[in-house]
Amino acid sequence: MRFDIITIFPGFFDSPLDYGILKRARTAGLVEVATHDLRGFTHDRHRTVDDRPFGGGEGMVLKPEPIYDAVASLGILPKAERQREKETIILLSAQGRPFTQAVAQELAATERVVIICGRYEGVDERVNEMLCDREISIGDYVLSGGELAAAVIIDAVVRLLPGALGNPDSSRFESFGVEDVPKKTDSADGPPRSTYGAGGLLDYPHYTRPAEFRGIAIPDALRGGDHEAIRRWRRRMALEKTLRNRPDLLDRIEISEEDRETLAKLRLNTEQEA
Ligand code: SAM
Repeated sequence: MRFDIITIFPGFFDSPLDYGILKRARTAGLVEVATHDLRGFTHDRHRTVDDRPFGGGEGMVLKPEPIYDAVASLGILPKAERQREKETIILLSAQGRPFTQAVAQELAATERVVIICGRYEGVDERVNEMLCDREISIGDYVLSGGELAAAVIIDAVVRLLPGALGNPDSSRFESFGVEDVPKKTDSADGPPRSTYGAGGLLDYPHYTRPAEFRGIAIPDALRGGDHEAIRRWRRRMALEKTLRNRPDLLDRIEISEEDRETLAKLRLNTEQEA
């Protein structure tokens, strides 16, 4: 897979792509990331990439010509002929559609992703209309530029590439995972899978040694080797965390009868505590 990032700050990416899973994936040749300096596609002495907004108002806007030329230099097919499952162009924008794990999974199945990083007040809208397949926001807040958002997207996508993680199950059964929820019987022959918080829920809490830290002990369910007890505890905790921090997720997933009963009890407990 290959990412091409169009930015006025190519040096920004030297460091964030050089650690952990991202570094390993690049070294192993699973992913290639190229940065393209937008100023290299200007034709004036001052290498101007921005101009004042039509209609007046605050700030400056990134001009369309250098971005168009930068994309043209990459040999990407024009929008009408492009197969966006193979190559896709993303405009980063606070006005975009939310970036989610499902979008990360779609992108991980793509061969080539071009990312256009905005700055100032944003990018001339004709860039979006003429070149881009997706307008993506990484959250409901405004960043000063698209570079951090690009790094976030690349990180989330690369860890989904086959071979990027030591244990492929790590990305299958984690928060927001869209895998089916493991069945009870999955744990019958061996230790529980790394997580049972998948199926669109948040992950359950994790603990490691020591078993007691500053007077706080790990939950009893995790002490013994009772796989079924561990499965049930993890599932309940995933439901509890999701109910507490992201109840909106519960409306979007299919839940089992067992989950429904657990949620009813959790809701009752919360009402009693309030
Ligand atoms: N005027 C824009 C607005 O109110 O929506 C904000 C522009 S922002 C200061 C500059 C650039 O940062 C944007 O063009 C975009 O590339 C990037 N950016 C800002 N917030 C973002 C977000 N939540 N997700 C992705 N990119 C973002």
